[in-house]
Amino acid sequence: MTRVHNFSAGPSALPLVALERARDEMLDYAGSGMSIMEQSHRAAVYEGVHDEALALIRELMSVPDTHDILLLQGGASQQFAQVPMNLLHPGQSADYVVTGVWGKKAIKEAKLVGQARVAASTEESDGKFFRVPSQDEIKLDAQAAFFHVTTNNTVMGTQFSHVPESPGVPVVLDASSDIMGRPLDVAKYGLIYAGAQKNLGPSGITVVIIDKQLIETGRRDIPYFFQYRTHAEAKSLSNTIPTFGVYMLRNVMLWLKELGGVSAIYKINQEKAARLYRVLEERSDLYQLKVEKESRSIMNVTWNLATAEAEKACVAAATKAGLIGLKGHRIVGGLRASIYNAVPLSSVDALCEFLGNYRP
Ligand code: PMP
Repeated sequence: MTRVHNFSAGPSALPLVALERARDEMLDYAGSGMSIMEQSHRAAVYEGVHDEALALIRELMSVPDTHDILLLQGGASQQFAQVPMNLLHPGQSADYVVTGVWGKKAIKEAKLVGQARVAASTEESDGKFFRVPSQDEIKLDAQAAFFHVTTNNTVMGTQFSHVPESPGVPVVLDASSDIMGRPLDVAKYGLIYAGAQKNLGPSGITVVIIDKQLIETGRRDIPYFFQYRTHAEAKSLSNTIPTFGVYMLRNVMLWLKELGGVSAIYKINQEKAARLYRVLEERSDLYQLKVEKESRSIMNVTWNLATAEAEKACVAAATKAGLIGLKGHRIVGGLRASIYNAVPLSSVDALCEFLGNYRP
């Protein structure tokens, strides 16, 4: 068996030990005579996994008692809609910092629900985003129902080094592509959401960490199933959850805990990003880094070559060398290496070696 170096943007690489455990337990989970997928989501066997997954998220992110952790479906995209459905009351307006395609989609959904305002945007005339704004550039509405920020922009490869603030207003984070990639003070945020398929596990689960007060004051005039309180009250077992996804997430969380948690992986992530940016800078004859230095992401590294043909050839050569998933997002082109938590330093080193020696 040969495992490739996987730089896919999501779904993305999973820790080998999490996959091996799933392989070993596939046919008979914990002596139950069946796989975890075949258990009832109400059975004690599954409930043990479910509770452990929630407890591990709480432990790894130091989620305070003031916040609930929900495991939902529909991806981060559903949260684009569900956040304003719950938190944007009639007559209120919400603030959005638009730093990429996902932020644009988020505000589009909010505008269907009520009023939403661009508090800052770094969009260029060609629709691309090469930086995140400074706090000074953001025009805050002190009365806003919430203040929405995308912490890491998966497509462009930008990331806030300091998450912006809006004093007195609940801050909502789309942390899909950097959750648990670096420490975050959960207590400061009203709501944090993330699709699992980058740093947490397989696709199919969305983690929502929400201040209990926002659950309490959330709208009651929307369908029950979309109300956060429905899922908080049912411990995220209001209906049939993707049980295998939760099980895999649990395995990934155990791996992260064993490794030393979020602060330990953050150090490794910084090192991975530093090595990759260094090689790209050293070979400026060939590679162009377009994102402003202060806005560079440590999760998604993007770069260009002189032409689309040259980029295609580079991706093809990399693929041949076992370096997979480097084609940039279709909206922006170029190349992108997603170096999420589960991408080991050895994969980044293999990529650095390839890029350093590449001759078109
Ligand atoms: N937000 C961000 C920052 C993302 O990267 C993505 C997916 N790549 C989404 C939202 C949408 O996530 P999903 O596909 O889970 O709906």
